[in-house]
Amino acid sequence: MNFITKAPVMLRGGDYNPDQWLDRPDILEADIRMMKKAGMNSVTLGVFAWAAYEPREGEYNFTWLREIMDRLYDQGIYTELATPTGAKPNWLARKYPEVLRVQSNGVRDHQGMRHNHCLTSPIYRQKVEELLNHLIDAVGDHPGLILWHISNELGGECYCPLCQERFRSWLKEKYHTIDALNHAWWTSFWSHHYDSFDEVEPPFDNGEQSLNGLKLDWRRFTTWNMMDYVHSETAILRKRTPNVPITTNLMEYFPGLDYHKLQRELDFVCWDSYPHWGRPDRSTTVTAGMTAFDHALIRGCKPDKPFLLMESTPSLVNWHEYNKLKRPGVNRMSAIQTVACGADGVQYFQWRKGRGGSEQFHGAVVDHDGRDDTRVFNEVTATNEALAALTPVCGSLPKADAAMIFDWDNRWALDDAWGMQIKQKNLRETCCQLYAQLNHCGVETDVVGVDADLNRYKLVVLPMLFMTKPGFAQKIREYVENGGIVVATYLLGYVDESTLCWLGGFPGDGLREVFGVTASELDTLYPGEGNRAIWVKSSQQSSIKDYCELLQPAEGTEVVAVYGQDFYSGHAAVTHHVFGKGHAYYIGARLDDAGNAAVLRAALADAKVHLRDLPQGVEYHCRESENARYHFYINTTQSAVKVQVESGADLLSGKNVLGSMELKPYDACAIEEKVK
Ligand SMILES: [Zn+2]
Repeated sequence: MNFITKAPVMLRGGDYNPDQWLDRPDILEADIRMMKKAGMNSVTLGVFAWAAYEPREGEYNFTWLREIMDRLYDQGIYTELATPTGAKPNWLARKYPEVLRVQSNGVRDHQGMRHNHCLTSPIYRQKVEELLNHLIDAVGDHPGLILWHISNELGGECYCPLCQERFRSWLKEKYHTIDALNHAWWTSFWSHHYDSFDEVEPPFDNGEQSLNGLKLDWRRFTTWNMMDYVHSETAILRKRTPNVPITTNLMEYFPGLDYHKLQRELDFVCWDSYPHWGRPDRSTTVTAGMTAFDHALIRGCKPDKPFLLMESTPSLVNWHEYNKLKRPGVNRMSAIQTVACGADGVQYFQWRKGRGGSEQFHGAVVDHDGRDDTRVFNEVTATNEALAALTPVCGSLPKADAAMIFDWDNRWALDDAWGMQIKQKNLRETCCQLYAQLNHCGVETDVVGVDADLNRYKLVVLPMLFMTKPGFAQKIREYVENGGIVVATYLLGYVDESTLCWLGGFPGDGLREVFGVTASELDTLYPGEGNRAIWVKSSQQSSIKDYCELLQPAEGTEVVAVYGQDFYSGHAAVTHHVFGKGHAYYIGARLDDAGNAAVLRAALADAKVHLRDLPQGVEYHCRESENARYHFYINTTQSAVKVQVESGADLLSGKNVLGSMELKPYDACAIEEKVK
């Protein structure tokens, strides 16, 4: 089903900041005319408009907002209305200093920038409640209002006394006794024992950084406190505008919040995607593959609904280290890819560049020249035409044969662990590499949390699943016993949910029996160092970097590949174990793409998953509804390619296709296959 009942269309729009142009009615008038020309049907309004709504405490002005929403709606353009709480006005910080956030060094922020308010502050929450009620009074009944957009790119932590006290209360509720906390955090280490909850501080930069359990619980608390804050906004909106769905814009692979939990406050998910297109050290195909992983990660937060791309840039950003233009055709290709991965809308930050402020040079549909015939404007128009042609796919969902497990607690536990590579554990790189190899086989993969129902999938991949939470190992055991196929990599099952190591050998929690292997030692390689994996049956060789686990296969476990160098040369690097009716593959080292492909192809064969023979650089995705399948083939290269496709109508070209077609550079097709 579509996420917006009022507007069952492919959303095409962007962030619009008329509050920066209220003294230029000529520009506001031109904006709507040009939006129509560009094919837009939605705008996100009021993201940072608190000072325009409430210039002084208790003095509200929404007249301008209502007028603009009226004019947009008259032209068929819907409004996605933000709650403007991502940045607070000066008067609030001056009068109520407790709303200013305290950083991890213990120093309170000065007013400035954004996302700098305390999440706990009762004053802040009260002022937000007053503002939202007035905003709803003014426009909550507007026919053009299709969704609420909570704040903006939520994130950050606050270490103020109010948040510290809340953290201690949260810990008391979780552990009940200080002894339980001491055990979970292993505080006998370095004599860091606590006598009472009152002694506990957050992990200040110059404070307690040695207890991994504390650091992980602080991150969990921060997500909980953010959800509690978000709930303080959504409760008002749900009560007063129950028919308007609620979302907030998530960010790619964002470290600060557990999105699997945060999504519970939302009706559907959306996110902001800013890939490094055009990086000289990375092909467009690789960047597209990483972006597809990010799409899957976000859609996996709410897998039963399409998502929305809230922000992307029509050309460049202003915050990458080097801000490169998108090459011609890349914007359209990436928008089609977004829909192929499950989105029902693609929007931009931003509609028009502001004259000042730190985002004055961030890409926009309309540049400072104010023209509607620029290269970028024309690219956006062409992209919106493609998106409009894809309207029939709205409401359908990607259908995945494979699942990859991603868990925020695991990520944090790995990041904080003293060991392996200290600065960069390369979890994301490992996930993206494996995801890309599945994609090259034409296999759609969901990226889901440990709570997911695995029985929906023929193959489950566990990249660097260092932490196994209660019940998960048993779930894997039952999945494989009943015929499921699992591929796991190095670092599987080292710690429990409190970051305490499993005893008796890794992978712990009963997984050694499933995989038929023990990882007895872990060798971390320096940059530039490597090893080789040699396949026992085929003599195929793959290069290895980062990590080599020394594996001890159990009796009956097949050694698929062995190390080619060092003192563990000839010992197992990749294993395969039949367990119950299923198969469990274990990759003990960070293999190159060909090595990962060899393991995954063997596992996919066991899983009887249909593979596609895709030309190099062509990405495949499929969305399904009750009545149709939509097969997307996306050429991520600068060369034309011929590709074998299903026969049917191509929604993008409008032509009927019979089995094969040529895709121009950065072009795509979306074949509609009717299902009886
Ligand atoms: Zn605080």
